Amino acid sequence: MKTVTDIENMQSYAEKTRREGKVIALVPTMGFLHEGHLSLIRMADKAADLVVTSIYVNPTQFGPSEDVDQYPRDIDHDTTLAQQAGTDVLFVPTDKAMYPQGYQTFVTAEKLTRSLCGAFRPTHFRGVTTIVTKLFNIVKPHIAIFGQKDAQQAIVIRQMTRDLNFDVEIKVAPIIRHEDGLAMSSRNKYLTPQQRSEAPVLYQSLCEAQKMIEGGERNPNVVKKYTQKMIDTIASSKIDYIEIVDAVTLEAVREIKGNILIALAVYIGKARLIDNILIKV
Ligand code: AMP
Repeated sequence: MKTVTDIENMQSYAEKTRREGKVIALVPTMGFLHEGHLSLIRMADKAADLVVTSIYVNPTQFGPSEDVDQYPRDIDHDTTLAQQAGTDVLFVPTDKAMYPQGYQTFVTAEKLTRSLCGAFRPTHFRGVTTIVTKLFNIVKPHIAIFGQKDAQQAIVIRQMTRDLNFDVEIKVAPIIRHEDGLAMSSRNKYLTPQQRSEAPVLYQSLCEAQKMIEGGERNPNVVKKYTQKMIDTIASSKIDYIEIVDAVTLEAVREIKGNILIALAVYIGKARLIDNILIKV
């Protein structure tokens, strides 16, 4: 595995790889890698000849009150894990190279970014679509892999790819969880031992919601209320949202039917955790 920090070097390596007729897969990450990220890298390794994993804590997807400098980082450990999982090129650009002085161009997806996380983090997806566009232009992938953990992000990226005619196949990998059900996340590091022991309630509440729906409940408000009640038992929790939405449009549903996404964002102490479950009714 080689590490590339320079944008031009990455571009010329990608061009050379394409000329050789090889398939490039990109796995964009913000680092502090865990099994969730590694599952994406393994999927990329199966699908492509050259796997590029990017590690970049993208400042434009953090809001003014969110501390980008506090985001956990461990590039040495990431390098080992990324290589073991099948990465060929680790792309680790600098802020200066990605957003040089005078930078002023952003990519925005509209409707899909207004609900769920977008309602609470109004500039977040603009940062995501911008950085992914830049990574597509730098890494020139045939395939890009994202996690279902960030369900809205995956849908927004698919939309952007369609709307802007990027010649990139978007693949979405399932959520990887700890044994107790908590979705793996770099942000779990912010949890105290007490909070960590309570955090699996998030997934448990989604599973209970699923059971209610399988039992015939069709009123989203009833399901949401029950889920909220479970999460409220965690002393340090603060719910941003629990929503039951159409899995394609991300619009809230009045009746539970078809392909449904139940998505939540909850602060447990300092950590803003997200999770979701897809249900077909
Ligand atoms: P991040 O480093 O948090 O920006 O995540 C990079 C990519 O890994 C995104 O596409 C995430 O959706 C994906 N990812 C993060 N956590 C998980 C997980 N637990 N299971 C599957 N994919 C994940």
